[in-house]
Amino acid sequence: MHNGNQPLIFELSKEGRIGYSLPELDVPEVELSELIPEEYLRKEPAELPEVSELDIMRHYTALSRRNHGVDSGFYPLGSCTMKYNPKINEEVARFSGFANIHPLQDESTVQGAMELMYELQTALKEITGMDEVTLQPAAGAHGEWTALMMIRAYHEANGEGHRNKVIVPDSAHGTNPASAAVAGFEIVTVKSDENGLVDLEDLRRVVGNDTAALMLTNPNTLGLFEEHIVEIAEIVHSVGGKVYYDGANLNAVMSKARPGDMGFDCVHLNLHKTFTGPHGGGGPGSGPVGVKKDLIPFLPKPVLVKKEDGTFHFDYDRPQSIGRVKPFYGNFGINVRAYAYIRSMGPEGLKLVTEYAVLNANYMMRRLAPYYDLPYDRHCKHEFVLSGRRQKKLGVRTLDIAKRLLDFGYHPPTIYFPLIVEEGMMIEPTETESKETLDAFCDALIQIAKEAEENPSIVQEAPHTTVVSRLDETLAARRPVLRYQKQ
Ligand SMILES: *Cc1c(COP(=O)(O)O)cnc(C)c1O
Repeated sequence: MHNGNQPLIFELSKEGRIGYSLPELDVPEVELSELIPEEYLRKEPAELPEVSELDIMRHYTALSRRNHGVDSGFYPLGSCTMKYNPKINEEVARFSGFANIHPLQDESTVQGAMELMYELQTALKEITGMDEVTLQPAAGAHGEWTALMMIRAYHEANGEGHRNKVIVPDSAHGTNPASAAVAGFEIVTVKSDENGLVDLEDLRRVVGNDTAALMLTNPNTLGLFEEHIVEIAEIVHSVGGKVYYDGANLNAVMSKARPGDMGFDCVHLNLHKTFTGPHGGGGPGSGPVGVKKDLIPFLPKPVLVKKEDGTFHFDYDRPQSIGRVKPFYGNFGINVRAYAYIRSMGPEGLKLVTEYAVLNANYMMRRLAPYYDLPYDRHCKHEFVLSGRRQKKLGVRTLDIAKRLLDFGYHPPTIYFPLIVEEGMMIEPTETESKETLDAFCDALIQIAKEAEENPSIVQEAPHTTVVSRLDETLAARRPVLRYQKQ
């Protein structure tokens, strides 16, 4: 079976070919059966590909070129912040003092690493306006869940364990209702109004004595800033609920506005988005959570503290803690990258990040608005959402437009999200792209809009230039073939 025109590593195999050279054995050889009970030993040798080192290099390099990454092209995936990951971060993360330590080492031998974590927590507290931060959660969704578990513990400690409802706007990122459900809450949806913002009347209607929390992304997934944010927080607080800020894409407000000042009680950040941790390939992420004073006793333990003598220490004596949410202390390598980024940017640099992220999104939105429907025609923040409903009338769906973009060498935007926009296309350029790149991408989308009118089949049948043509996505999801089978 061929994967495009690239043979599988098994098909490259030639009996007896090897990709390594080892020195002569200088210790006595041991029979495997002396180490492993007979019944567990293979009867037949494992069928492994036999290839040279060069074959392996070429094979995997060729496969890697078929991936799209931030380092290979523009990647405007909305609500994902696919921005450039500065290479200095990688260099710093590889310093032996960071890369070659073990989490079970004695605290006295890893004070520098602990200091870095402490300093990162301090920076994130300042950026979010929160009183304390935990670095334990391994991803955004994990941070959401961690915060909700703290909110649950807080209500229980106040004799209000009956609060079992979490309010989520209909424009929310899918992880919000999912995390609330996993944390054992019932989800109540609050509607968006005609401006794409939380409908205050509907919010007043759904809050009550059973409200545990409201989860809100601000700016929301339409890229719009919630203008009534202070009032929203007051409505939820007035019934005793907590207000949670989904800060995955903080690019939109960083160094300009702080969740803590908007009235939020807790927030999660995605270090693998805003703070330039790489998030390709499902690699480790980091979703720190910041909390206001009320929630500090419930933070996951151990809590990193600085002692009076200036040394750092993990405090396990936290009787109200929700416990550990991750083995050891979080994804330290991502913490190092985020810290390197924050320190190399400085406060003024982080402000510019926000300004460029917002400027780039508004620039693209205005260039594209004549060609695609813009359902919420308002000043946007770091991202914006177009609708392909005009093209749909011509028989061209948003999925077709996304596939056609592949022919131009671009990763498509997020599509069919948020759910409240028909044929939605959610575009987040990020601050790291040049005007030339933004223009070239707009030109491609404008050309596709023209093709949809003049020659729809070229869009409907795209992509034309990729290794494989359009896949049957349902079949690929339902009946994936994950294992090589010799024909
Ligand atoms: C990416 C994202 C998340 C989830 O983050 P993960 O690290 O993928 O779990 C949550 N909310 C919003 C708004 C996001 O953009």
